[in-house]
Amino acid sequence: MKIGFFGVGHMGGPMAANLVKAGHEVTAFDLVPALLAAAVNDGVQAAESAVEAVQGADIIVSMLPSAGAVRGLYLGDEGVLSHIDKRALIIDCSTIDADTARDVAAIAREQGRVMIDAPVSGGVGGAKAGTLTFICGGPSDAIDRARPVLECMGAQVFRAGDNGAGQLAKICNNMLLAIHMIGTAEALQMGADHGLDPAVLSDIMKASSGDNWSLDKYNPWPGVMENVPSSKDYEGGFAVKLMNKDLGLALQAGLSTQSATPMGNLAKSLYAAHGNHGYAEKDFSSIQRFFRHKESSEKMNNE
Ligand code: NAD
Repeated sequence: MKIGFFGVGHMGGPMAANLVKAGHEVTAFDLVPALLAAAVNDGVQAAESAVEAVQGADIIVSMLPSAGAVRGLYLGDEGVLSHIDKRALIIDCSTIDADTARDVAAIAREQGRVMIDAPVSGGVGGAKAGTLTFICGGPSDAIDRARPVLECMGAQVFRAGDNGAGQLAKICNNMLLAIHMIGTAEALQMGADHGLDPAVLSDIMKASSGDNWSLDKYNPWPGVMENVPSSKDYEGGFAVKLMNKDLGLALQAGLSTQSATPMGNLAKSLYAAHGNHGYAEKDFSSIQRFFRHKESSEKMNNE
């Protein structure tokens, strides 16, 4: 297949490389020339303009930072939507609000074009390993068409519902992720404050009713698990600033339906404060540091 790819950043770069590995012809465009040059090393062809990337493409994939970027790319003054072949399938993998996903897909539909939302879970590691989970919204037949392409970049493809539903399911998941990460960090700190070994406490809670993904697969206490960000000074992984972005989208979604999201609101406030205290670029499990009080107060007393 001939694939036009937009946004070869942290996620898009390895995703485009996996499409090339699977035998697809990928032509990419990014606003940052250095990122495009890096993608060329992975076998991607560089387009000189956004419009050039969509010419003759069977599939369009976008992996952009924000709703504004998605609107700008497809609908802006030099928007590419009207240049896309009507037989092509448009797959937006960016994490954005559901309203924008629905609006852009509706405009595409009015023009006789088909677009789905397919945000991902799995982070940069999953993008590199080709094990992402795609959470799609759009017509079933369009998602069936997208499936073989998405499976070159991921391990699982879900249909959450119509356009926008992929974005909603993704932010419901990330709101829950933030909440159980915070709860896990809080419980581990309280145990440690009472002299419990966080590794032993983790084993106990994993075998008990407190078990959850943050505790089991992504333990936030340094040294409890190998090869997770907490054991690498919270480097790599899923940045606090990205968790903040997703929690903002979750709260926006909750407001629009007047859903009660007290835990999501609290999680957003804690992550916003944590980001503002110098942790914006660190992995989101660094929220563990937010709870450390003995070490922090000792440090403060020594200053
Ligand atoms: P990134 O900032 O590294 O990459 C985005 C790229 O898009 C940048 O290189 C930027 O130059 C490019 N871009 C912006 N506007 C463009 C345009 N009009 N045309 C072409 N290129 C354009 O971001 P990322 O970490 O790769 O994340 C991409 C998306 O995936 C975001 O929506 C993010 O929320 C989501 N996501 C990220 C992660 C993660 O762990 N990084 C995990 C899951 C989902």
